Parts: sequence; C-alpha cells; structure tokens
Amino acid sequence: MSTSHTVAPEEYLPRDTADVVRTVRDSRNRADHLTVRGGEPFDDGLSLPDQRAVVSLRRMNSVLDINLGRRTVRVQAGAKLSDIDRRLGAHGLGLPIVGDHRDITAGGFASVGGVSTASHKYGMFIDRIVDLEYVDPDGRIGTCGRNHHTERFHRILGAGGRAGIITALTLDAIDIDKDHTWLTTNADRFLDFDSFVEHAYAEITQPGNAALQVGRWVDTAPLKVSRPVGTGHVQLGTVRFGQWSSLYPTTPTRSLRARREVGTRTRKSLGVIASAAGGRAGTPVRNAAAGALMFAPKVLTLRDAEYLADTVISSSERGPAYRVAIFAPLSTYTSVFYQLHDLFAGHRERTGCFTVISAMTYGVRSEYLRSEAAVHALPAEDHGLITFTCRLRPSALPSELLRDIVSGIDEICHSEQALRYDSTD
Ligand SMILES: Cc1cc2nc3c(=O)[nH]c(=O)nc-3n(C[C@H](O)[C@H](O)[C@H](O)COP(=O)(O)OP(=O)(O)OC[C@H]3O[C@@H](n4cnc5c(N)ncnc54)[C@H](O)[C@@H]3O)c2cc1C
Repeated sequence: MSTSHTVAPEEYLPRDTADVVRTVRDSRNRADHLTVRGGEPFDDGLSLPDQRAVVSLRRMNSVLDINLGRRTVRVQAGAKLSDIDRRLGAHGLGLPIVGDHRDITAGGFASVGGVSTASHKYGMFIDRIVDLEYVDPDGRIGTCGRNHHTERFHRILGAGGRAGIITALTLDAIDIDKDHTWLTTNADRFLDFDSFVEHAYAEITQPGNAALQVGRWVDTAPLKVSRPVGTGHVQLGTVRFGQWSSLYPTTPTRSLRARREVGTRTRKSLGVIASAAGGRAGTPVRNAAAGALMFAPKVLTLRDAEYLADTVISSSERGPAYRVAIFAPLSTYTSVFYQLHDLFAGHRERTGCFTVISAMTYGVRSEYLRSEAAVHALPAEDHGLITFTCRLRPSALPSELLRDIVSGIDEICHSEQALRYDSTD
C-alpha cells in the first residue's frame, strides 16, 4: 500500500507594489519560478498540485480611484471584478466585460484576455484597459498603456503572468445601472447541430440591440446501463440539444419580477445540490444543474444575467474534461464549428474517450483580437468564440490520442485562420 501527501507550496501575499518588487527580487535566483495568482486557488479536478512558490495578489484588492469625469476606475490587480463593479454601481457606472464568476480578479482577467456574453458589443476585457503598472521578472516597476509603451502593453496583456506581474490597472467604465437594467430572454431551441450553428452565425453577425448573447449545445454519448438480470446492457439513447439565447433590454412587469425571484432561488438550490453531489453517482445531478442554464429566466437584471453560470454551473462543471476555446473569424465560423464538432464526436465514437460533448459560443468584436490577427498575418475580422468542453473517461484518453486531438485542432485553426484562445499563443 502506498501513501501520498502533498506539501503546500510557499505562498507570498504582498500588500502593495513595493512588496511585489521585494518578492520578485528575493526569488530571482530560485531554480523554480514564481507562479502568479489573482485570488484563491481554483481546483479544476485535473491539474496536479503545483509545488512552485506562489505570489497571490488577493490582499492587493483595493479600488484606488474612480474618475467620474473620465469614466475610469483605478484598481490594484487583486481586486475582484464583481467588487469593482459594485463600487462603480454606486455612481451609475459599470464594467462592460466581467467574467462568469464572482472571484475573477482584474489582473487575472487581464492576463488571460477576458471575454463574456457582452463581447459581441464591448470586445474583450483587455480592450477596456487604459493602462497598467507591472513588476517585470527582474523586479523593476514599469507602466504602459493604450497610448504609451504600447508594444510592452501588448506583451503583458494575455501573457498569463509570464511577462511580469500586473500590480495595478486603470479600466474604462460605462454608464449603466446593472441592478435596474432588466433583460428579457429570447430563446431558440434546436435538436440538430447544423441548424444550431447556422442560427448562431446569423445572431453573431446581426446581434441587433442584444445586451448579451450565448449559444449552448449539449450532445451526450449513448447511455448504457446494465440489465438488472442477466448480462448485457440497455442502450438509453443520446441527448442532442441546443439553445441560442439573446437577452434584450426590457421594462419588467410585477409578475415577471416575481417569476425572476422564484427562478433565482431554484437555480441557487440546484447549485447547492450539485456541489454536494460528488462522484459518479452525482453525475446526473450535476448534468441537470448544467442543463438548468439552458432555461434562463425570461426576465432578469443585467447583474444576475452576467453571473447566471456562477449560480449553478461552477460546482457542476468540476471533474475531468478536455476544454478548448477558438476565436473563429466570421468568414470561417461555421466551418470551424462543424470541424471541431466532427473531430470530438469522431474520437468519441471510435475510442469512447469522451462522454458529454458541449459547446458554447458568442460573438467577439475586439480591437485587440484584430491586432493579434494582424500579427499572425490574418485578416482583420470580427470573431465568434467557440468553446468545447468534452467530459473525459481519463483511462480512455492516452497521451498519443490527446496529441492527435491537439494536432487536429491546430490544423483546423491553421486552415481556417482561427486563433486559439489560450495564453500560449
Ligand atoms: C486561457 C484562459 C482563458 C479564460 N478566459 C475566460 C474568459 O474569457 N471568461 C471567463 O469568465 N473565464 C475565463 N477563464 C477562466 C477564469 O475565469 C480566468 O482564468 C480568470 O482570469 C481567473 O481569474 P483569477 O483572478 O482567479 O486568476 P488566476 O486563475 O489566479 O490566474 C489566471 C492567469 O493569470 C495569471 N495572473 C493572475 N494574476 C496576475 C497578475 N496580477 N499579473 C500577471 N498575471 C496574473 C496567472 O498566472 C494565470 O496564468 C479563462 C481561463 C483560462 C486558463
């Protein structure tokens, strides 16, 4: 019998930029590099514990200044976007792009890029950064921004912490009251994948005045259950289902507000049940919780809508999965979507490595992405984000199969002029 134990990595908790400088300088000669973290560690159920020393900016979480004239907010990098947004809310302002859960920090989001269901309108989070302060790997403080040291600015944004530690940022805010901006959901449902993709393309290219938009597709492997008596299995069939949701501004009636309250409570309860339902036995409950996202309430506030996934899915999404996100230029969007789907469904059929394959998609009109495309000599177009999450049977995904899948994705990106959304590009 073997026992294993994990040793907690060293963690630094700076309170200001000078602390970050000291930490970086003191660690310069270490063999292992520092890992930067925005807030609390997130366990995705797949990664091995990281034993490198960690600098967490969770104590550098202040909102430093709100400039009402310029409509900007200056924050320390460890400030949570949800907290910044609340502070702005008191002035009738808000952040145009926030992530889908409440713990994301400004520095963490700047380091990955940051997209949301409002990206068809406002682009990426990093399009909305005016300037930033950082500490480079040698422990020197620098500043850069949209209008100064732009080359450095682009090197640090989206770099996943490798180009330096972001310590403070100035962000654009917009005039919006997220608690009193009510949205109504127009949902279109699909049982075949092709119609879903065609519809998503049409909505992304012509979003009208949708405040938020998102399409989700779920496709399960045929479910087999053992017969109670004798040998063999019963095949229960597959579930293939898609929904496109566009959320438009509306004026709510009293009864719609009441329905919103009931819906909010139900989703929260589902989230609690899902997080308690562990292991294999809990899978149907977690899938049901994820499925609840398809049935967003008819009317809700913009703030509720931005964190809809957070109320039910963060707990249900845990567990082994293969995830990929691609920015497809609109001219090749449908082709990229079909090819990715065929790639994952084909591997599932041949090897049984995946169980549930789900996809999420929305439009992204980003200046940053256009300039990234130009760097790769690709046409400057608007994009659709396509993400696939494939639930894994880990034992059925050996490393050579994983390599095949990754090279299949690379080929699709290359031939269709699409960009992978991760911090390694
Ligand atoms: C590639 C990628 C893209 C993602 N995109 C989205 C998205 O668009 N929308 C969404 O809702 N969720 C997204 N997520 C999930 C998650 O919400 C983000 O990773 C989010 O940035 C996590 O925020 P955090 O503050 O906890 O950062 P962490 O999870 O701690 O860090 C995220 C990354 O940023 C680096 N980092 C953190 N703080 C700093 C800093 N101050 N200076 C420099 N580097 C730093 C870390 O080293 C790490 O590479 C994404 C995840 C990944 C891995």
